[in-house]
Amino acid sequence: MLGKHIESFMSVTNKLFFHTYFYPFIQLYGHVNEIYLSFRASTQLDVPVLLNGIRQERDGEIYLDCVVVEMRKRLEHEKDILQTKKKLEELYQATNEANKKLELLHQEYEIKQQELINVNHQLETMALTDALTGLNNRRFFQESLLANIALFQLSQLPFSLFIIDIDRFKLINDTYGHPVGDLVLHGLAQLLKAESREVDIVARYGGEEFVLILPNTTEENAKLIAERYRAKIEATPMGDLSITTSIGIATFKSEDTDQTLISKADQALYFSKTNGRNRVTHAVDMV
Ligand code: GH3
Ligand code: MG
Ligand code: MG
Repeated sequence: MLGKHIESFMSVTNKLFFHTYFYPFIQLYGHVNEIYLSFRASTQLDVPVLLNGIRQERDGEIYLDCVVVEMRKRLEHEKDILQTKKKLEELYQATNEANKKLELLHQEYEIKQQELINVNHQLETMALTDALTGLNNRRFFQESLLANIALFQLSQLPFSLFIIDIDRFKLINDTYGHPVGDLVLHGLAQLLKAESREVDIVARYGGEEFVLILPNTTEENAKLIAERYRAKIEATPMGDLSITTSIGIATFKSEDTDQTLISKADQALYFSKTNGRNRVTHAVDMV
């Protein structure tokens, strides 16, 4: 470049640009900073440069001193940065989409989880419910009985057990058919549920036998309550049919277990049956 005018390395466009900005600016402000140009090289592609210039006087003459820095590295670097930026944006978008998918999956998972909880809940209920009557089943009764015994050991509060058995139920099945028998069972279950307190446990023990656990109920109260149930059942028609029931009662004593309590109530029930049915017997009154 030595000995040559700077404009001789410029394309027409660059020259135009140079004339429009460089001379007026340096004239006006005495300097220019960071003008981007490209010089024409004979051998290779254009050389991009950054140019700073200053106008100063030396020995009575005006000089325009310029510093030219090759820009290729910087441009490449800028290209790199742009590419990296683009890649980052793509990655960011991919991450965003993945996150959205993850969120959807998470929502799906939560819904499935809730469904599972509901199904488990239903299964649990089913496992403890008698399908025909909707009452608690024998398993639930056994668990409740153990819970009541544990409570007795803590509180010494008396509780009583009823076993209620429909009298001559086989005759109803034989006369009117099994479906009618089922309706009677369902009707009796409704009645027992309606007559019982919130704290009582009402369950179908099996076949035409029902059990009740009555918390905080003494021998004397148990007899009165059982008699009330017996009378109510006798007085309530199930469809076109009337039924009677025999009831056996036992009240828990500290020496009892679940087995002895059930056995006592069962013996009392048998006593009611053998003494004419449609009656209530407490285990302590068997003579
Ligand atoms: P008792 O007065 O001595 O109790 O006479 P019972 O006929 O009620 O007693 P038994 O044990 O001889 O008969 C019970 C009947 O209950 C026999 C059985 O067919 C009927 N049974 C048991 N489970 C069901 C049921 O789910 N549906 C219907 N319809 N009948 C049932
Ligand atoms: Mg029976
Ligand atoms: Mg019976």
